[in-house]
Amino acid sequence: MERLRNFINGEYCEPSTGEYIDNFEPATGKVYSLIPNSGAKDVQKAVDAAEKAYPIWSKMSNEKRSQILVKLSEGIEARMDEFTKAESRDNGKPLSLAAHVDIPRAVSNFHFFATAILHFASESHNMEGVGVNYTLRKPIGIVGCISPWNLPLYLFSWKIAPALAAGNCIIAKPSEVTPYTAYLLGQVAKDAGMPDGVLNILHGEGHTVGDAIVKHPKIKAISFTGGTKTGEYIARTAAPMFKKLSLELGGKNPNIIFDDCDFDEMMKTTLLSSFANQGQICLCGSRIFIQRGIYEKFKEEFVEKVGALLVAEPNNPKAKLGAVVSKSHMEKVLSYVDLAKEEGGTVLTGGVQVQMEAPFEDGYYLRPTVIEGLSYDCRTNQEEIFGPVVTITPFDTEEDVLMMANSTVYGLSTTLWTSDLKRAHRMANEVHAGIVWINSWLVRDLRTPFGGVKASGVGREGGWEALRFFTEPKNVFVKY
Ligand code: NDP
Repeated sequence: MERLRNFINGEYCEPSTGEYIDNFEPATGKVYSLIPNSGAKDVQKAVDAAEKAYPIWSKMSNEKRSQILVKLSEGIEARMDEFTKAESRDNGKPLSLAAHVDIPRAVSNFHFFATAILHFASESHNMEGVGVNYTLRKPIGIVGCISPWNLPLYLFSWKIAPALAAGNCIIAKPSEVTPYTAYLLGQVAKDAGMPDGVLNILHGEGHTVGDAIVKHPKIKAISFTGGTKTGEYIARTAAPMFKKLSLELGGKNPNIIFDDCDFDEMMKTTLLSSFANQGQICLCGSRIFIQRGIYEKFKEEFVEKVGALLVAEPNNPKAKLGAVVSKSHMEKVLSYVDLAKEEGGTVLTGGVQVQMEAPFEDGYYLRPTVIEGLSYDCRTNQEEIFGPVVTITPFDTEEDVLMMANSTVYGLSTTLWTSDLKRAHRMANEVHAGIVWINSWLVRDLRTPFGGVKASGVGREGGWEALRFFTEPKNVFVKY
């Protein structure tokens, strides 16, 4: 059985504990590789390597760093097939999704930040007759990057690319559930000419190695994407150590559909925004609000189309949904279907596990699920499920739907469907969200800020925001 290894100081190595954890293939439910069960000693080893590498990397010219990162992005591109297959196998997502979204977007992220650093400028403030201030932007030092399982390499690259471009050294940990593409990345970085110790990738559990990263005094910033509860714990631990924190957390996003929308376009996109990646994208719209005039029409067509979505093993090119990421996650999602029924909801389609034929009979497959008849404030409509489950709820007025949309503790993204321009702007201004898509979904411009409000997080990723996060401003005043 293949054993993954940590990547420390430019070399693959065994964990200090000598222990390994099973890595399951969601499509079959079988163990297919072993992951290092790293601990605090591995973090220390990585920090030692990063400390040595920091003067070299931080003082390297932006042009040189940029060249290495461009090579890194090209290195992933050159191994596109291998990365795509690895991502799909590790996560359970359809191969086509990994090929069209995950890996190409990770390549773009590295390329974007490799070139963005060449254009990153700092400010100066002139004081007439007195002097001038200029602001330097210095790398922070050693930073920790911790990422989740749903878009493994893509979200990993959101952190690593800007952190490296800005001149920091990194101790990174992918999710224990989906470590494989991060494992491959070490070699690509080395081949691209990244100096040893700049990028260190550790594998293992959040509460052990993840915790050791968060608590290490020499790791000066933590960029974390994951669940709100974990984010809360990390904030509680890191804040008294005065670490810089970027937290991208959970969501319960509304998809608001007015009766004047382009119905066909909305329907096509709503199928994706509900169930892409088995609903395991933090930006999926899991609460669908439909204006009453088109509620019945929407319900009929949506339920029919959802019922026809093919759930299949990830290598099937026709698969619209693959397997969810783990057995425990599948059980969590199914428990929410039970809860929805207890809360008075009616399952219109789905709500069950899909029994596949051998060799996929133990895989984690769920039918995409649509539920109606729930109040906006019940637990099913307030808590993050993070699976292929959506609820549909009718509304009458803008005020009603705004109240329902804004009623959760979360505020990551919102999707709005309407042909009324004024209403679109009015709603976009009022919804509690860091990201609003009007008549679209998941369109990303890498220059724009990405992140949420309320319990969906603190700080923003993307564009200059990410480069600002991974640098410290230092103001210098010179007297005339
Ligand atoms: P978790 O919070 O469980 O884990 C995220 C990462 O943190 C994993 O690498 C995990 O390791 C690690 N971790 C867990 N506990 C600790 C700890 N005590 N100290 C340090 N690290 C720790 O989230 P999931 O992986 O389950 O991801 C799903 C969540 O991520 C959802 O809530 C989703 O909404 C959110 N998300 C948010 C996004 C955003 O941009 N706002 C984007 C994508 C997802 P391990 O896996 O080994 O436990």
